[in-house]
Amino acid sequence: MAKQRQRSRSSSRRRKQQQQDKTTNRIMCGAGTIAILGIGGFLVWKYALGSPTNVEEFKDGVSDAGDYARRKWDELDLGNFTDVLDGLDGISFGDLFQEDPSYGDGETTSWDRKYVKPGNGGLHLTLQNALDETWQRPFELAVADWNESPALTLTTQRVAVDHTCTPVSGVMVVCNANFGETGWVGINENSILGGYIVESVSKMNEFYLRNANAAHRRFTMCHEIGHGLGLPHTDENPYNRNLGDCLDYTDDPEENLYPGEVNFDKVAELYLTRRFLRTKEDGTLVETTVRYVRDELKPEHMGLEL
Ligand SMILES: [Zn+2]
Repeated sequence: MAKQRQRSRSSSRRRKQQQQDKTTNRIMCGAGTIAILGIGGFLVWKYALGSPTNVEEFKDGVSDAGDYARRKWDELDLGNFTDVLDGLDGISFGDLFQEDPSYGDGETTSWDRKYVKPGNGGLHLTLQNALDETWQRPFELAVADWNESPALTLTTQRVAVDHTCTPVSGVMVVCNANFGETGWVGINENSILGGYIVESVSKMNEFYLRNANAAHRRFTMCHEIGHGLGLPHTDENPYNRNLGDCLDYTDDPEENLYPGEVNFDKVAELYLTRRFLRTKEDGTLVETTVRYVRDELKPEHMGLEL
């Protein structure tokens, strides 16, 4: 069952952000995507269903001079980190997640089942590392932390830095850029087709994060990757007790740097479970759910120092 979501913008947005949204939206629509799940902010997507029907058609369509110039301008601006905050001291970090489009959802969404082997490592997913040098360590740590789950078999592939954060089919792209004063520090966009995730992009907003401390950056990385795996928030009040996982909203990210048990339970439900349906002679439909258990602990790096 396809999922659709649409939210209205709560404020006027910077022109370049609108342009970026539009560009991405067009590519997404071109992929036949019928829903985009935006995280970490109030990104809004409108979809034109039905046409056009493939990505290349859309990419090719952005060929006139005006579009080309605009895309180039976007790219340059997205990679310009001079006009960014000095840091997040004195700013409520929790508030920067308050308009997360995933807010109140609480649902999990599975990746396309062709990437899932419930009896053998769960979700086998490639994360394309399109981040610049400053993000290598937080990225490496966050991937290692998530990989500790028996339900996840994540591999990484370093690619050229891409501040435009162009989605790639079948993988999670992780990138950084100066998206401006958007109200969100990070955002994840999952493209959902037929009810399953087919591609994902996790974006780190350098307007807030370029000069932020290691905890802010690591929390955001862990949070957005978590959404990219199909997970919802654990708790959405940044001012209550911290639960110790990075999908729990917080004003004190140093207490919520890693995925937690509740997150691992959810990915296990998504990716270590297989369901069988059969019809009995009397016509009754019987659903059998098998949950694969892996006893061995992964010798990973949970809790590595920043
Ligand atoms: Zn979120």
